[in-house]
Formats: sequence, structure tokens, C-alpha cells
Amino acid sequence: MNRGILFVLSGPSGVGKGTVCAALRHKLPELIYSVSATTRSPREGEREGVNYFFKSREQFHHMIETDALLEHAEYVGNYYGTPREFVEKTLSEGKDIILEIEVQGALKVKEKFTEGVFVFLMPPSLNELKQRIVGRGTESQATIDHRLSVAAEEMNLLHHYDYAVVNDEIDNACSRIMSIITAEHCKRERFLGELFHDLANFPAADNV
Ligand code: 5GP
Repeated sequence: MNRGILFVLSGPSGVGKGTVCAALRHKLPELIYSVSATTRSPREGEREGVNYFFKSREQFHHMIETDALLEHAEYVGNYYGTPREFVEKTLSEGKDIILEIEVQGALKVKEKFTEGVFVFLMPPSLNELKQRIVGRGTESQATIDHRLSVAAEEMNLLHHYDYAVVNDEIDNACSRIMSIITAEHCKRERFLGELFHDLANFPAADNV
């Protein structure tokens, strides 16, 4: 059985990773979505174990110390991390999994999973990105300023990724990501092992 494929959806703050991922959940229910741990407080409507596993700083540090996280990053004053065991189990069961994480974490995952597929979600323009971060209206001015400066640096990391998807419309972005998933499943490498195994049971050409 082939291992599943690890997809990482990343990109600058405010680009809409969370919204695109939520829309993908409806369109692709068979894809597995990793739920991160975070020390940030829940926003209205967020649920434990669905949006995040909400942890205290002590609990989060314990997860780091016990190697329970595949990667973790500090982002605008809070910790975020991907629980390791769930990702490894899902891949070994031959199922695909997607991580929706910020760029520092994505680069750390890339060091460990070179075979992962890294998708960078882009804003249609930098000005649009600024409007989205300001328009969210859930954060203080200091947090907004911090998020804007972080987002500008994050845009420079595009070259580390395999694909770039512009998030102009959520449906368009989802279709592009679904096309990427299909394309990755059609890569010849995924067939070669099985093909050579099967061909070994065929007569050699010069004996025919
Ligand atoms: P938010 O606080 O808006 O939910 O998330 C802030 C940022 O943290 C977003 O860019 C989100 O993609 C990222 N994030 C969520 N979970 C993880 C994670 O497990 N690891 C890392 N490195 N970033 C994460």
C-alpha cells in the first residue's frame, strides 16, 4: 500500500488559509485535516478538538519536551504546533493529510518530510492582503501592525514551495488545490514500485 501524501497549506497571515481549508473540508471530506495545538485563547465559535486543541503554556511545553509535536512555532505571541502521532498514523494508513500552518512551521516540516507537497496561498495583491488583515476586526492595532509586518516577510518565502495558489475567490482556490492533489496522485513515482513488482512476475522479453 502506498503511503498517503502530506500536503502543507501555508502562506502569509490574513491570506485566508483557514477559510480555504474550511471550504476544502466540505468539498473533500475524504482528505484528513490535522488539528493543531495552540496556546491562543479560543475565538467565538471555535471548538476544542475541531479548530484547535487549546493548551496552557505549560501543557504546550510538555508536548515539545515529549516530542509530541512534528513542528511548532511562536506566532504573534502564541505557540502553535502540529501533533506528530496523528500525522504519521494517517500517512502510514495510506491516507492523505493536510496541515494548515504558518510559514516557519511549514519550513520545519519540509526539513523532515522532503516528499511533502508544499502549497503557498497567495493574496491577489499585497494591498488586498492588508485590507483583509485590517478588516478582520478581531484584534488590537498593535496586533494588526505586527501581523502586517510578519505577512510582508512571509511573502518572501514563496520560493520554498512547490505550488502557488492565488486566493482570489475561495471556490477558485479550492479547485486549484484539488487539481494539485489530483496531479500529485498521478505522479509516476507513485506507480513505479508496484509496477516493477508486478512486472517481475512477467516473462522476460528475450524468453518470449
Ligand atoms: P490563528 O490564530 O489565526 O488561528 O492562526 C495564526 C496562524 O497560525 C495562522 O497562520 C495559522 O495557519 C497558523 N497555525 C495554525 N496551526 C498551526 C500549527 O500547528 N503550526 C504552525 N506552525 N502554525 C499554525
